[in-house]
Amino acid sequence: MAIDRPKGTKDHLPDGSPKLSLDVQASAFAHVQETARRVLERAGAQFMATPLFEEAELVKRGVGGSTDIVRKEMFTVYYFGDHGGFILRPEGTAGMVRAYLQNGLKQLPAPLKLWTHGPMFRAENVQKGRLRQFHQVDYEVLGSTDALVDAEAIALMVDVVRALGLSGVRVKLGSIGDPADRDNYNEYLRGLFTPHLEHLSDDSKDRLTRNPMRILDSKSAEDQDLIRELAVRPMLDFLGAEASAHFAEVQAYLGAWGVEYDLDPSIVRGLDYYRRTAWELHHEGVGAKSALGGGGRYDGLSAQLGGPEVPGIGWAFGIERLLLALEAEGVSLPGTPGPLLYLAAMDAENVGLAAQIARSARAVARVEFAYKAQKPGNAFKDAERRRARYAAVIGTDEALRRVLNLKNLVSGEQREVALDDLNTVLTELENN
Ligand code: AMP
Repeated sequence: MAIDRPKGTKDHLPDGSPKLSLDVQASAFAHVQETARRVLERAGAQFMATPLFEEAELVKRGVGGSTDIVRKEMFTVYYFGDHGGFILRPEGTAGMVRAYLQNGLKQLPAPLKLWTHGPMFRAENVQKGRLRQFHQVDYEVLGSTDALVDAEAIALMVDVVRALGLSGVRVKLGSIGDPADRDNYNEYLRGLFTPHLEHLSDDSKDRLTRNPMRILDSKSAEDQDLIRELAVRPMLDFLGAEASAHFAEVQAYLGAWGVEYDLDPSIVRGLDYYRRTAWELHHEGVGAKSALGGGGRYDGLSAQLGGPEVPGIGWAFGIERLLLALEAEGVSLPGTPGPLLYLAAMDAENVGLAAQIARSARAVARVEFAYKAQKPGNAFKDAERRRARYAAVIGTDEALRRVLNLKNLVSGEQREVALDDLNTVLTELENN
């Protein structure tokens, strides 16, 4: 019996594959990565990459022991040895901050802007836009608490979606304050929920002792009903003077730059090391409950990982979710272009010559050649199937005279080009 790919994973397929949709089109995936790269590198972010698996302890400390990710969704990797196991990374930030600390990147000029992309793994219940292996573009800035850094990070997310051609994206912005503000809020939540303990889900009963803020994030309908009934006050009401001023500054920059956002008090990132600004990007094509991406400030994370205090902020997009949104908006993305030139030989003696010409012409353009001798009619058909713009078939006469007859496959026009001039001609054709 044939073996299928694991549930919650996707194959990324070449252009022209049967039943191709944008979310599995490899060229669309690459286009998203390239667009992110262009936007982020223009803003001074440097690419960095970290391993796909990390020490379990890093993920526990870096994502938080009370999160669903750590409690239920970790993929553990064992190998033949006595090591207790690694974790396939569920997100990028913990690894990026670990690498920053371990490799002495603190010596680089601060704030240091980094970006990465790659697969992430969570053993989730699989649904539309919720996979077990998915891909993120991550942006992280280390070494600054400046509100301008927060505003720029949010604006860059908006720049990425704009550069992709997406329009229906909403930014939901909140702040979770400083640790003391959060302590006050948690105390308020504890007081509020404790008399209603029996109406909370089991997970949330647990959260009430460990970290009440996470109740607000609960996916359980009964929890959400209770939250509504109790008219829970938002975290924003509990911001202290400093966090308030910082948040006002972030909003002032965004306002001045024309970056639209909605204040959303429901945004909570309950972990100890999260501070202040937190946000999500949403899009209808992805579903109301799922974000296109999200980010936040994590000034306490470095210390949590055993390093010195290093303020940080970062965000991540899910590439598959961006593709879903693009598909929902009907945005068409450039696929992989076909070859500029397709070369074939009419007889077996000249196949090697066709290949040789192709190899040297590849210095300037995409060039394919036929591996077997072909009749001109078949060669042109094959060239069209491969979406070539020009084709040439080499016969003995062309080989002796060292020329090619370039046929424009759209207009049908032909022109003779000396082999010595081929690369110059292809360069011109490529550019218009
Ligand atoms: P998070 O680290 O949970 O804030 O996730 C950041 C982004 O990654 C989300 O906004 C999604 O776009 C994407 N993402 C998270 N989990 C998944 C998943 N299971 N499947 C697909 N994308 C995901």
